[in-house]
Amino acid sequence: MRNFIIFGPPGAGKGTQAQRIADALDLKHLSTGALLREEVSRQTNIGQRVQDLMAKGELVDDNIVDEIIKNKVENSGQVAGFIFDGYPRTISQANYLDVLLAAKALPLILNLEVSAEELSKRLILRGQTTGRADDNQETIKNRLIIYQQQTQPLLDFYASQKRLISVDGQGEIEEVYRRLSDQIK
Ligand code: ADP
Repeated sequence: MRNFIIFGPPGAGKGTQAQRIADALDLKHLSTGALLREEVSRQTNIGQRVQDLMAKGELVDDNIVDEIIKNKVENSGQVAGFIFDGYPRTISQANYLDVLLAAKALPLILNLEVSAEELSKRLILRGQTTGRADDNQETIKNRLIIYQQQTQPLLDFYASQKRLISVDGQGEIEEVYRRLSDQIK
């Protein structure tokens, strides 16, 4: 089994690249953002609990996302591996995931590096085209700050364990994909 975490700030292109890697390596793509948005649109108990936090760009409680991921990992049958997208976002989630996968294969981290200026541009554009509720100027600012405070520290955690691969996330989608696939062949 091979497992990966696609990592990077909001707007780095995680979803796009994760989908390509999943197709190429026959991995199951698990996006906590997409799974949470589905809970919100179905107005489940979880959906009702998380919708205000998501709209503000705050993180949802660790135990909610941990539980969602655990259920998906345990109920996916035989798969070649997973690519996690938007998870983990805190040290506590990272530890949870390592325990969950310890008997399988610890994930490698594929980190997309994109400048702050480019991120804001991409997110504002995405808000105009997809209409995602959290892609507005105020929330984008908050998500970038939360990323820096709570999620970026995971890079040191993974680097110290030699599980971190960073690539330039700027340029054409195809070009970024080539950089990533060169690293994981
Ligand atoms: P982006 O990477 O563009 O911020 P996502 O789709 O990954 O978008 O996440 C959207 C929102 O869902 C986040 O701002 C947060 O509120 C919530 N969320 C997603 N994944 C997690 C997670 N692992 N832990 C806590 N909250 C999460």
